[in-house]
Amino acid sequence: MQLGKCSFGTGDRFARQGEAQLKAFIMARQQGVNITPVWNKSNREHITIGSDPRQTRAAAGKAVKNLNWEGDWFVDADHINIDTVDRFIDSSDFFTIDLADFIGRKASSKELEGFYASNEKFTGQLNIPGIPQPLNLTGEMINAAGEKFLFAIKEAGRIYRHIKSKKGNENFIAEISMDEVDEPQTPLELFFILSAISAEKIPVRTIAPKFSGRFNKGVDYQGDPDRFAMEFEQDLMVIDHAVKVFGLPEDLKLSVHSGSDKFSIYPVMGQLIRKYNKGIHVKTAGTTWLEEMTGLALAGGEALGLAVDIYGRAVDRFDELCGPYSAVIDIDRSQLPAREDVSTWNGEQFAAALRHDPDHPGYNPHMRQLIHVAYKIAAEYGDVFTGMLEKYSEITGRQVTGNIYDNHFKRIFDL
Ligand SMILES: [Zn+2]
Repeated sequence: MQLGKCSFGTGDRFARQGEAQLKAFIMARQQGVNITPVWNKSNREHITIGSDPRQTRAAAGKAVKNLNWEGDWFVDADHINIDTVDRFIDSSDFFTIDLADFIGRKASSKELEGFYASNEKFTGQLNIPGIPQPLNLTGEMINAAGEKFLFAIKEAGRIYRHIKSKKGNENFIAEISMDEVDEPQTPLELFFILSAISAEKIPVRTIAPKFSGRFNKGVDYQGDPDRFAMEFEQDLMVIDHAVKVFGLPEDLKLSVHSGSDKFSIYPVMGQLIRKYNKGIHVKTAGTTWLEEMTGLALAGGEALGLAVDIYGRAVDRFDELCGPYSAVIDIDRSQLPAREDVSTWNGEQFAAALRHDPDHPGYNPHMRQLIHVAYKIAAEYGDVFTGMLEKYSEITGRQVTGNIYDNHFKRIFDL
């Protein structure tokens, strides 16, 4: 099973936008850029909404069929671990094995000794083609990497083998993610992580490290873009080298869990993958839901009324909604407009506040982030909400397609 050189993960919380999303991939293909669509949805999102992974697969499959998409496509069990993987087994063919909870836990001393023994040969000057200065590698550095990551990689091996026992060898793509932790992994740490992954015999196809800077949901990157560029470039070189040295799959590539809308670093990522002729997987957050809200607002009347209601309730339930996402959002409560004010807005005003257009005077990133985590409220509206999505599918679909193509593909793939 091959993921393809470039792939893009998109979320569809209410399983109504598969076709609108796929249209953006078709537009890219018409411009000569092949991007494999991956529909991702985490266990947390399924629980919040009360949905089932089978619905994700069915909606994606229907879109693929209706639009005659002949390329590959995948359904990603996003950020799973051993406790949550089982309900995804039948309907997913892409598994993002998450290590965040296990990094920093210590493997047994016997395991650590084994890790040291197999990596001792790299001590001294480690030359990684493409990285100008050789890295000066000491035994302590190997031990430190082992203590930090070996336990987690062993856990990844356990989860990988569990999935393999149910789905069979080569019937799924394995990603390993480490992005939801506090500290970024250095390129050198990535080298040893890949060493341990190889020792666990996990045929990993995408790896998602944590980069420096903040990747808040639905808003731009916060950090030093030059530093990001350097890390990203070095990671590309490390992966290239590790594939050769450790015999990992040839098509192993970086996965960037972007949280969507990283406008200031998308072009950098694009330039670097083109410079080295590399592939990439870019995972986005469920910002399709924000486009649904934008579309409903623009539709006006009852649809705008519903969007305003959802916002008003979100303000009232701020703590409950933001709590689970506190590490990936940054909202200044005093910047949130009052419900009474928002209820006097027309659709264009609501859409302008919500849309990620930093140059627009009406854009409000605080409101945008709050609505991003407020999908639970829309889910509580049940058929009222999804019925509205269906009734106004043309205008919501247009926002969804345009967002993926204009905001993401154009910037990353230089379309
Ligand atoms: Zn992630």
